[in-house]
Amino acid sequence: MILQNIRYLVTQNEDREVLENIDLRVEDSRITEIGKNLSGKNMVKVDCSDRIIMPGLVNAHTHVSMALLRGISDNKGLDEWLNEDIFPAEEAMGEYDAYVGALLGAAEMLKSGTTTFNDMYFHMDSVAKAVENSGIRALLSKGMTDMEDEIHDQLREALDFVKNYGGEERINVGIAPHAIYTCSNELLSYGKHYSEMHDIPFHIHVSETLDENKDVIEEHGMSPIEYLDSHGLLDEQVIAAHGTWLSKNDRKIIAEKNVSVAHNPAANLKLGSGIADVNAMRENGINIGLGTDGPASNNSLNLFQEMKLTGLLHKRDDPTRITEQEVLDMATVNSARALGLEEEIGSIEKGKKADLVMISTDEPSMSPVYGKRGVVSNLVFSFNGGVSEVLVGGELVVENGNCVEIDEETIVDEAERLKQKLV
Ligand SMILES: [Zn+2]
Repeated sequence: MILQNIRYLVTQNEDREVLENIDLRVEDSRITEIGKNLSGKNMVKVDCSDRIIMPGLVNAHTHVSMALLRGISDNKGLDEWLNEDIFPAEEAMGEYDAYVGALLGAAEMLKSGTTTFNDMYFHMDSVAKAVENSGIRALLSKGMTDMEDEIHDQLREALDFVKNYGGEERINVGIAPHAIYTCSNELLSYGKHYSEMHDIPFHIHVSETLDENKDVIEEHGMSPIEYLDSHGLLDEQVIAAHGTWLSKNDRKIIAEKNVSVAHNPAANLKLGSGIADVNAMRENGINIGLGTDGPASNNSLNLFQEMKLTGLLHKRDDPTRITEQEVLDMATVNSARALGLEEEIGSIEKGKKADLVMISTDEPSMSPVYGKRGVVSNLVFSFNGGVSEVLVGGELVVENGNCVEIDEETIVDEAERLKQKLV
């Protein structure tokens, strides 16, 4: 397939080039050439003179099946929200519910330009099935806790998942102990061992709330990051979700150990957890990806909304502190790097997967365009997120703004039906 005369191609390559009136060739799931007047015998040619094309966005932290719990509880902090409303609803959630929730979330993500998400939850076979059936790409890990469950059962299930889905085309796998406060030191250490053995990401919630920090400091005499570091658990495989309450020393450790942070500003604000100091982290050279967290605490999976919020929050008293380009980087190349997928996704370059998002130049919220910087500015600060087409690995998964593989009407009806047993 050749996409011809693309009005603006936002590459997110090393030089962050935005190319104009350019062609792009896709063969067997990958981008094979970018240039002027590309030819290709017997190849399908698509006129893109009225399209802006950008890399698919990468959600660095979520729990997609929680789409089924969207709006179930809105005015509580993390502890009360989890214990009073979320844990009881999750108790009632079965494999099929998790599958419907994951498809609902996948539809929302695809339709707002996200092509890859990083997920930890339970019922992960259901999430994997939703990934397979929707056309989206994901990094999936079974969330582990051993407060009540047997540590060996938790590890066995997580490893079975790694073994069963490790070689799938659009599924990458990881290890995900939920958090320090829900996992024993033994479970964390085994988890790290398996992450190293299989060379896969280690995804964990860290320093989400001030209470979590206080509790860990009280129990162990050190911060959550210092605690993980003291057990040799930090390296470039680690994706630390949140990092809302990092000290100067925490940031120094994270930078030294090449840990990536997944920033989730909307969920942090909505649960009243705080605001992560993204600018300080960036000064330390820390790789920061952008996530939504689960759709019960956000309550959306739309990364365009998250980008705008990120730009506004971290400019708040100084508009020069973060640029539109730096925000877009977080939701594309930085998230891809956090997931260990920087060679495959996150930018539009020869050899990478053809995960492409197309936006109509007729879209009012993308108009007018003040040059190449203006395209990026519109994507971060004005675009409403309603994309026209989405390709994942060269396959068309959104067409005219609607999902190709997901029957949206049926899924929405099913979500309405299933919610009744969850409250
Ligand atoms: Zn989370």
